[in-house]
Amino acid sequence: MSSLLTQIQLTHPYLYKAFSALADGEQHLHHIKEVDRYWELLKHPVQQVIIPGMNLPKDAVISGEYDLIYAGGTLSLLHAAVMTKQYGRKVMVFDRQTPAKSTRDWNISRNELLNLSAIGLFTESEIDSVIVRRYKTGWVEFYKPDGSQKRLFMENVLDCAVNADKLLGLAKDKVMMVPGNTLLAEISFTCCYQFDDYIVVKVVDRKGKEYYYKAKVLVDVMGILSPIAMQLNEGVPQTHVCPTVGTIASGFEDVDFDTGEILASIGPADTVPGKGRQLIWEGFPAEDSQYITYLFFYDEADSPNDKSLLSLFDTYFRKLPDYKKIGSEFVVHRPVYGIIPAYFHNGFNRTREIADDRIILFGDAASLASPLTFCGFGSMVRNLPHLTADLDHAIAENNLSKKHLDKISAYEPNVASMANLMKYMCFNSATDEPNFVNDLMNEVMIVLDELPERYRQAMFRDEMKIEDLMQVMLRLGLRYPKVLTVTWEKLGVQGSIGFFKNIVGWAFSPVR
Ligand SMILES: Cc1cc2nc3c(=O)[nH]c(=O)nc-3n(C[C@H](O)[C@H](O)[C@H](O)COP(=O)(O)OP(=O)(O)OC[C@H]3O[C@@H](n4cnc5c(N)ncnc54)[C@H](O)[C@@H]3O)c2cc1C
Repeated sequence: MSSLLTQIQLTHPYLYKAFSALADGEQHLHHIKEVDRYWELLKHPVQQVIIPGMNLPKDAVISGEYDLIYAGGTLSLLHAAVMTKQYGRKVMVFDRQTPAKSTRDWNISRNELLNLSAIGLFTESEIDSVIVRRYKTGWVEFYKPDGSQKRLFMENVLDCAVNADKLLGLAKDKVMMVPGNTLLAEISFTCCYQFDDYIVVKVVDRKGKEYYYKAKVLVDVMGILSPIAMQLNEGVPQTHVCPTVGTIASGFEDVDFDTGEILASIGPADTVPGKGRQLIWEGFPAEDSQYITYLFFYDEADSPNDKSLLSLFDTYFRKLPDYKKIGSEFVVHRPVYGIIPAYFHNGFNRTREIADDRIILFGDAASLASPLTFCGFGSMVRNLPHLTADLDHAIAENNLSKKHLDKISAYEPNVASMANLMKYMCFNSATDEPNFVNDLMNEVMIVLDELPERYRQAMFRDEMKIEDLMQVMLRLGLRYPKVLTVTWEKLGVQGSIGFFKNIVGWAFSPVR
């Protein structure tokens, strides 16, 4: 049988060429195809993976018993490490790939990262050991054909590059330091059986052998592919998505190692039928001579556009020279990719399902982060203290019904409201002019530039206050009245009312 790489030689020639040069190109291609399965899953009938306990096979043998079982081994490790280290909980973490190995790297500011030492998870020197680069400043810019775009500079925003695997490795070590905890690789979640007093999780290894484990709570941290999220949300686990691909590479000729390019649009939208999208780049200096570049776009989860990572990666390698000058020494060290999830809550509060009896969802499985700036990692770092303390309390009180677990979430009303802005960045080739997203965002940059720096910092750090957002929107409306009709067109009646409800919910929410 021909390799996957050979199979894409004609359909995705740029990706084929780039991945052929990687020692593990074939493996990454398999992984990318696995993530791209998401688009098919959205079309299929929802698989039932939460099953009443009475259906547990009579001959099921329990291989181990834990307080918490984590399905998925990425952000889960931060949570599991706190639960075991601070709260003495016995945990098991499993992943169908290798736990603590991610297909991405993260940006954040050091102050935010210090939350992880404030909670007692890492020492400050451990935190510093995972920061592979700090930059002086960063900017955001949206293309204008005449070159008049506003480059908006900001400091202390996403200015640290974090080696994700190193950070997760440290958390993994903390988990494994405690006798009785278990970490399993190449083990896939199959389903779970709910009982009144416990939950049984069925998993399968790569050879097809099945195992059963028992826990007080199952924590679903399986990311965008979570079958539990799919079931609980009746086949609509996300309303919007942000497919993202990129590389950690070296050998560019024109990169600035002191500056982060937080958002950089360098051209009008792709208007080809089936590909209506405004592509956006990001560029971040990383370790030594390495530099990270990402390409992504925002879209509705059910739009007819081709949103596959495979096709976006081919575009990435084709268009990369338009963004950065590639030198003769250019080499890709590692591809990075994933689908960043987003959910529009049509209500005053969270409307997405994130829990069931003895089941709780965190990270991308819960999809409560904003896809605009900080995503799931930033959200986990911010919310980790209460996501761990509240869960420990719920276990201690044996309050593990859906009603109680529902209250333990990373939902933040300001983040939910701000996430609506992503809808303005979803390009629709049927209704939008090719420079629609750029024109609008350029006006936002001009408004932010006229305001004190704290406005832009708050916006790009998910820390916006309601009165600050109102100030930005008011100024935008005066500068660019078209935004009012655009709101109606882009969000529709339901979306506009929903946005309003989100803001009202935010206005009345207690500050966390
Ligand atoms: C390129 C890129 C860059 C990013 N940069 C940032 C950033 O700078 N800042 C930020 O805040 N966020 C960033 N994000 C988002 C962030 O990476 C995610 O929010 C975060 O990884 C979510 O972690 P998670 O553990 O919830 O899910 P995932 O990282 O998706 O991990 C889920 C895990 O579950 C496993 N799994 C899935 N199904 C099963 C199954 N059936 N059985 C067992 N295991 C299973 C998978 O193998 C995987 O390891 C970025 C995302 C991408 C794609």
